[in-house]
Amino acid sequence: MVTLTNTKLTSQETIQLEDKHGAHNYHPLPVVLAKGEGVFVWDVEGKKYYDFLSAYSAVNQGHCHPKIINTLKEQAETLTLTSRAFYNDVLGTYEKYITEYFGFDKVLPMNTGAEGVETAIKICRKYAYEKKGIPEDEARIIVCENNFHGRTTTIISFSNDENARKNFGPYTPGFIKIPYNDLNALENALQQENIAGFLVEPIQGEAGVYVPDEGYLSKAAALCRQYEAMFIADEIQTGIARTGKLLACDHENIRPDMLILGKAISGGVYPVSAVLADNEIMDVIKPGQHGSTFGGNPLGCKVAIAALDVVKEEKLAENAERLGKIFRERMNTFIQGSSLVKLVRGKGLLNAIVVNDSPESSTAWDLCVALKENGLLAKPTHGNIIRFAPPLVMTEEQLHECCDIIEKTISEFKK
Ligand SMILES: *Cc1c(COP(=O)(O)O)cnc(C)c1O
Repeated sequence: MVTLTNTKLTSQETIQLEDKHGAHNYHPLPVVLAKGEGVFVWDVEGKKYYDFLSAYSAVNQGHCHPKIINTLKEQAETLTLTSRAFYNDVLGTYEKYITEYFGFDKVLPMNTGAEGVETAIKICRKYAYEKKGIPEDEARIIVCENNFHGRTTTIISFSNDENARKNFGPYTPGFIKIPYNDLNALENALQQENIAGFLVEPIQGEAGVYVPDEGYLSKAAALCRQYEAMFIADEIQTGIARTGKLLACDHENIRPDMLILGKAISGGVYPVSAVLADNEIMDVIKPGQHGSTFGGNPLGCKVAIAALDVVKEEKLAENAERLGKIFRERMNTFIQGSSLVKLVRGKGLLNAIVVNDSPESSTAWDLCVALKENGLLAKPTHGNIIRFAPPLVMTEEQLHECCDIIEKTISEFKK
């Protein structure tokens, strides 16, 4: 019998509690974490691991970064939530900070990534009706196959992941799906009636770290400009230094009309998301037309400022760029002698290996379990793909140690 007093639970007991009392909407690796610091996490039995997922790139600054945590503590003792019914003395400072940081006129603060995407969809539609003269209820937004933009009913309406979608209908209309990394398909879609915008991930993270061809994003942005459709970048996973630049869009020197941020903007500490755009676009939103009780709260704003400070102070984009190259070089050399892994791809420290087995096989999962035994945590995505995305505060020496673990695990792995 498990009791919920101060006695420390074992991993097994914790897993049983979740299994019995929690909805089964996730299938975690069997590891129970109790502590994190920088690139490391520890399980309840005290075993130490390299975190090679970083909470899907939310913990780019490393676990429990002292600057971010101290900021959180200080603000938590001062003022946490006012709602937007009143002003608070942090939001304006944050809004100035983040808009200057990313170079946009205005920000709309929300909490989770999915809320950020919903916000962008609403703004895009409203702009289409009020500024472009698209007839009401006719606006359509172009999205890509294999996208991941979150879990709300509208967002899963334009997913093509059956698991994410099936039996959650009726679905929200108004989206056109085209293949990713296909400029002809984009141009054809843009030529259709009543197109309001194009929503795209600069690299498809959840789908398995699909990096589009060089030039795809800049040409897509140019096509959107030509056809007067809004170019909306979902940089919730790729943003904030993950791919070796502050934004993945920076690799092609493009500036989206709307930029959606989440995950690492919080330093992995407290949910913060944001939509950034210029006045012409953002000013379509008037009081009462959109909002969130927690969006723009002083605690989240302070945490986000600290998290973004850390990215610049510690040159995390440069580090991700440098270490990412080393990682892919080592993996590419290694997989030439491996029959188990057929491909490594990625940008900066957002990478994946493709396991040489069918997506229905348990090979990638079993490999992640073996990696865990050897002290490195990663998670399969879409069956036979394993994403590798450590915190960006990793050192070169640590990265080499991680490559050693990965190579050893794959070499010794038996199906
Ligand atoms: C994680 C993610 C989201 C959703 O963010 P949540 O905070 O989980 O709602 C949206 N888009 C992309 C690209 C993501 O990686």
